[in-house]
Amino acid sequence: IIKVNKLNKSFGDNHVLNDISFSVNKGDVMAIIGSSGSGKSTLLRCLIDLEKADSGDIIMEGKPLMESGVYTSPQEIRAIIIRMGMVFQHFNLFPHLTVRQNLELAPKVVKKEEPLEMNQRCEAYLNKVGLLDRIDAMPSTLSGGEKQRVAIARALMMNPDILLFDEPTSALDPELTGEVLSVMKNLATEHMTMVVVTHEMSFARDVANKVIFMDSGKILEVGSPKDIFINPKEPRTREFLSSIL
Ligand code: ATP
Ligand code: MG
Repeated sequence: IIKVNKLNKSFGDNHVLNDISFSVNKGDVMAIIGSSGSGKSTLLRCLIDLEKADSGDIIMEGKPLMESGVYTSPQEIRAIIIRMGMVFQHFNLFPHLTVRQNLELAPKVVKKEEPLEMNQRCEAYLNKVGLLDRIDAMPSTLSGGEKQRVAIARALMMNPDILLFDEPTSALDPELTGEVLSVMKNLATEHMTMVVVTHEMSFARDVANKVIFMDSGKILEVGSPKDIFINPKEPRTREFLSSIL
């Protein structure tokens, strides 16, 4: 569903992504781990075109977003990234809109979806994340964990083929982290394809089927959670894990 080949990205002379190659298959839950500044967010941002890469290929469901360093047309790019949802560390809900309006905005504006269908789906997704009773609440009245669950429901409203998460729980208190991880775990059991940048090693170990360890802009190691957490090959991976676990 995603194929990335020899992706490179620099900010000035800071080479942030260095020959990154990996693929994500339908139904995969891929965790990206690695220390601060290793390029994890930049990689996700390149995948949804929030950041332009310098060279390489990004192929989504067989369609190139970028091929040999050349981007496709803006219309094609839009058509590709509309199939992807992203959940950020800081929720990014629209503060002046209710929960319902946050969920319905993109389907209404981008897809011109019928109100009735949209209302039903909105209620179904809020129910799924356990927040149907907060449908008319303003974001400022929600806890961090609730905001993040609304952000996930909002991403689901666009029926994405893949969901990208950038440290979805790192701004949350430990007691609120669990409720967000459990929503993500449920999505995984429903075979939602997900790429998750995370510091939650328990999630990477128990929910992901693929783990990527990034270090200074490179993928140092890829494998199953067992490979990475039990038998890491690279000394750098071992060092990272012992610093965090
Ligand atoms: P963290 O775990 O702290 O979120 P990360 O792995 O997500 O780190 P990135 O945010 O991708 O790391 O940053 C990688 C490098 O790119 C860092 O050196 C950062 O300073 C640099 N960088 C990121 N975004 C920009 C930008 N817009 N302009 C210039 N440099 C940037
Ligand atoms: Mg980051």
